[in-house]
Amino acid sequence: MSAFDAGQFFREQNQRLRRERRYRVFRRLTREAGQFPRSRWENPANPGRARDVTVWCSNDYLGMSQHAAVLEASAAALTRYGAGAGGTRNISGTHDLIAELEVELALLHGKGGALVFSSGYVANDTTLATLGSSLPDCVIFSDANNHASMIEGIRRSGAQRRVFAHNNPRALEAALAAVGPGRPKLVAFESLYSMDGDIAPMSELLQVARAHGALTFVDETHAVGVHGPRGGGLLQAQGLLDQVDFVQGGLGKGYGVVGGFVTAAAEAIDFVRGHAPGFIFTTALPPAVAAGALASVRHLTHSQSERDALFARVAQLRTAFDAAELPVLATASQILPLMIGDAARCSEAADRLLEEHGIYLQAINFPTVPRGSERLRITPSPLHTDAMQDTLLHGLREVVGSVKPAAAAA
Ligand code: PLP
Repeated sequence: MSAFDAGQFFREQNQRLRRERRYRVFRRLTREAGQFPRSRWENPANPGRARDVTVWCSNDYLGMSQHAAVLEASAAALTRYGAGAGGTRNISGTHDLIAELEVELALLHGKGGALVFSSGYVANDTTLATLGSSLPDCVIFSDANNHASMIEGIRRSGAQRRVFAHNNPRALEAALAAVGPGRPKLVAFESLYSMDGDIAPMSELLQVARAHGALTFVDETHAVGVHGPRGGGLLQAQGLLDQVDFVQGGLGKGYGVVGGFVTAAAEAIDFVRGHAPGFIFTTALPPAVAAGALASVRHLTHSQSERDALFARVAQLRTAFDAAELPVLATASQILPLMIGDAARCSEAADRLLEEHGIYLQAINFPTVPRGSERLRITPSPLHTDAMQDTLLHGLREVVGSVKPAAAAA
């Protein structure tokens, strides 16, 4: 029997992705501090001739990745403490900066404790896997549109999983009612869904969960920093923080650095700290990263100007998109999805925007979104200017018009 040809296997699988238009091409884009949302793009067809383009699809929603307070804190920590953490928190000890960051995050959410992870993905994956595998005979109720990191954590937990219709409190109610009252239950959903930009009916979902004695876990990755009077997210904005058991957030999007966290009651955090493999068995965040994240969280706790400028730009764009009759989903968030509805057309639009108009908008195709709902996901920032907006509108009118966009979905 001939040996398995792994090289052939990988080649075939990669070809399959190309055939299905799921092969991911990463653009060579270099961000320079102080220049965002401009970025240097090197076209492989023109090596050595990089040009400036405007990025309209970053999750650096507030431009905090280049904020002076963040850069200064990171640079000072790098020089003072060096590049790496030296090991897990068990092996190398907890750096003051991480301890301070956790205190700050717990205070922000009015919780007894917080735990910082290497990413938002890890925070979701390892916390949900740990809760689902530890709570005896637990059932997890998961919104149908939950992010891959939540789905993966829930799957790996081995707990029974019930998926409820997206943003549908009645579906959640029915799913909860079908499970006996004695079993531990955990309801997991996002406050802000990053592909449709829609906001969950959190008050209703939490009320239903509470009525059935279920624990609640809310992913605020795309909301922290950006929403809430102190940047504490949509739960803070809606006065619901005290109704939620576990609040998950990211440090790499609104806060502009990298990392993730969970805040909860002190005992619950202590439990996750002592049981979650994705927390225990990995090198801690470097001091410079923790310092940058801490500076960002602190800044956005008292500064409203970045949030105001972002939402002023969002409102201007929305008015302009409506006037141009561009099929953008009606959202109440900073995320503006422009529906194209076909993978090939979506990729073509993104290519032409970049090559002909110097606009970077990543095509969002299956499996990130369902087939038929392919889109360009537009995310403004406080640093985009009127001139950039004019160029965007001009480019979209030319390119999206000529690639015949599908009608906007609901
Ligand atoms: N949760 C949601 C809803 C996300 O969209 C993402 C990533 O985009 C994550 C978690 C993972 O966050 P991170 O990029 O910090 O790993």
